[in-house]
Amino acid sequence: MVGDGVLNRKMILSLSSLREGFSMTSDHNTAIHEFVHLIDKADGEVDGIPEYLIPKALIKPWLTEMHRTIERIRKGQSDIADYAATNEAEFLAVISEYFFQKPTSLQKDHPRLYALLDTIYNKEAGQHK
Ligand SMILES: [Zn+2]
Repeated sequence: MVGDGVLNRKMILSLSSLREGFSMTSDHNTAIHEFVHLIDKADGEVDGIPEYLIPKALIKPWLTEMHRTIERIRKGQSDIADYAATNEAEFLAVISEYFFQKPTSLQKDHPRLYALLDTIYNKEAGQHK
């Protein structure tokens, strides 16, 4: 869980969910998922836009791609977990699990999403060396 109040900006994980997430058979990684919520929350809003990471010019394309994919999930036309269509924040968390755990299939099946996430998460390595 991601905390509020005194636990604001803190993350609490159970050891079992941490182990389960990093096991080879799991699709779901709670540690990555909750950590992404924290990154998302760092700019003050849990809205699926990680403003500290995403270049300004990519916010619009990211929103477009996110909403397009959420639509597809809701129509049952996507392989991405239904939970990602809950809202923008869950979309970012779920698609980030996918990005870090199965980058090859994400790149193959969702090249635009992959390219956007690659820029968001690899910004440090690319631009500020
Ligand atoms: Zn979540």
